[in-house]
Amino acid sequence: MSGKQAGKQPKSFDVIVIGSGPAGYVAAIRCAQLGFSTACIEQSGSASGKPLLGGTCLNVGCIPSKALLDSSHKFHELREHFASHGIRHGNASGGPSIDVAAMMSRKDQVVGQLTQGVAGLFRSNGVTAISGKGSLLAPDRVRVVDGAGETGELAAKHVILATGSEPMTIAPAPVDQQLIVDSTGALQFDAVPKRLGIIGAGVIGLELGSVWARLGSEVTILEALDDFLPALDRQIAREALKIMGRQGLDIKLGAKVTASKCSKRGKNPVSVTFEDSAGTQQAAFDRLIVAVGRRSVSKGLADPGAGLAIDSRGFVEVDEFCATKLPGVYAVGDLVRGPMLAHKGMEEGVMVAERLAGKKTQVNYELVPFVIYTHPEIAWVGKTEEQLRQEGVECVTGSFPFAASGRALAAHDSEGLVKLVVEKATDRIAGCQIIGASAADLLQQIVIAMEFAASAEDLALTMFSHPALSEVVHEAALAARGHAIHKANRKPR
Ligand code: FAD
Ligand code: NAD
Repeated sequence: MSGKQAGKQPKSFDVIVIGSGPAGYVAAIRCAQLGFSTACIEQSGSASGKPLLGGTCLNVGCIPSKALLDSSHKFHELREHFASHGIRHGNASGGPSIDVAAMMSRKDQVVGQLTQGVAGLFRSNGVTAISGKGSLLAPDRVRVVDGAGETGELAAKHVILATGSEPMTIAPAPVDQQLIVDSTGALQFDAVPKRLGIIGAGVIGLELGSVWARLGSEVTILEALDDFLPALDRQIAREALKIMGRQGLDIKLGAKVTASKCSKRGKNPVSVTFEDSAGTQQAAFDRLIVAVGRRSVSKGLADPGAGLAIDSRGFVEVDEFCATKLPGVYAVGDLVRGPMLAHKGMEEGVMVAERLAGKKTQVNYELVPFVIYTHPEIAWVGKTEEQLRQEGVECVTGSFPFAASGRALAAHDSEGLVKLVVEKATDRIAGCQIIGASAADLLQQIVIAMEFAASAEDLALTMFSHPALSEVVHEAALAARGHAIHKANRKPR
């Protein structure tokens, strides 16, 4: 971007996307596929002049966290469970050891492969990647400030805002990315902390807590709320709390952090003060992760004169089709209302692109799947039993334990259960909650079934391969109708 452009007609595109996370890059690729001349502006990496594509998800979110979850799971399996399969790895000094630097380097390679993959997809689809910080000047004008501070302007018929989110901070535990870190810092530890504290028992707290617990940290999670995972079905949440406890995560509910102190010398690098039902408590850690939620990146995204509406929580205001009130301006992903999930943002990106091309695409916000990638995984979609009851809708549930699945037992992976929630009057599937091995993939079958408005009977009459983990879903559907085969039924329906 060159300042010399001032006075000249700005370069023009059909669509400019600001932000190259999953919402932005998917929107850009789909726009280009549909024949729009498309540019995507990304600020990360702009110091080098080459944009670092992929956003939070690819660089410091979904992908690196799953790489570490997978590495630490393999380590844990090797240490704890391989012997039960008759596999011996022992040596004179005892169990296996972890090379944190090698684990991090593998994670970085995976990230590099995927971010370069996005750059390749941009090239093959003809998306122009632009390095710099973008902001909206007017519905059809975008300012770009590049890594050298040079300012330029671009014109567009349509602008898609996709600047994502960043970690929230709390005053009692200021992040220094050394001793007190956010999720980004927690993906880059150079050694396994002996005592790891985490503030927040949400998705990040549980996933990253699992990583480091499996590698040997003593993990304590301080959660302000009295309820564990309040959005989740209560039975599944109780089961999750029990399993995580067995895995060594010490989850303290109703614990409100009031202060912290760091000391680079001495035995207690981070001291934390918190209040719980027993009064004021102290805890000492080697590292502390703050994982208390994320907030959208909307500050400075538009010139005040552009008239972009931002709500009190910082989300850009949009309708159900992600249109802002400004003509031709859309916003997608973590920047707007709804769950902060990569797949939700990607679907919004596709929807906006297709609607620009005159299609009638919609996002079904009722069917956003949620997954916590602990082991076992926790996954859910649709309504819980409690929600339906509150809405006055009569429902039945069908549950099935992984312990009764031949395949789960064969794999030595039989913790957890599936719970299917079904509207009593119509037999229509209203929701599903799973805690168990491969819950994310098992749940997807239910998401598809619900998208097609399937009944429990439809699932019950479907043939499932044997022996496959999927059978737990089949049996849950049979159980909802009172005739599961591989467990005792409480009452036939
Ligand atoms: P982002 O991915 O945040 O991307 C926004 C991009 O815009 C960034 O690259 C940013 O640099 C750029 N940008 C910002 N402002 C400007 C500007 N003014 N000009 C130019 N560029 C700008 N979600 C899941 O669904 N599954 C998971 O397993 C999962 N795991 C996660 C693990 C962690 C540790 C974290 C932190 C998040 C995780 N998430 C997960 C959430 C997921 O990462 C986000 O929901 C997703 O990345 C949001 O996509 P987005 O495109 O809206 O925004
Ligand atoms: P979260 O909202 O999932 O959990 C934050 C937790 O911190 C909550 O339980 C909250 O009650 C607690 N909390 C808030 N303030 C606190 C305080 N002062 N003291 C103690 N506890 C406090 O947020 P997150 O875990 O930071 O994750 C952020 C976002 O990233 C989520 O919206 C999530 O959707 C997304 N994410 C998704 C995945 C996934 O899909 N697997 C993984 C990681 C992150």
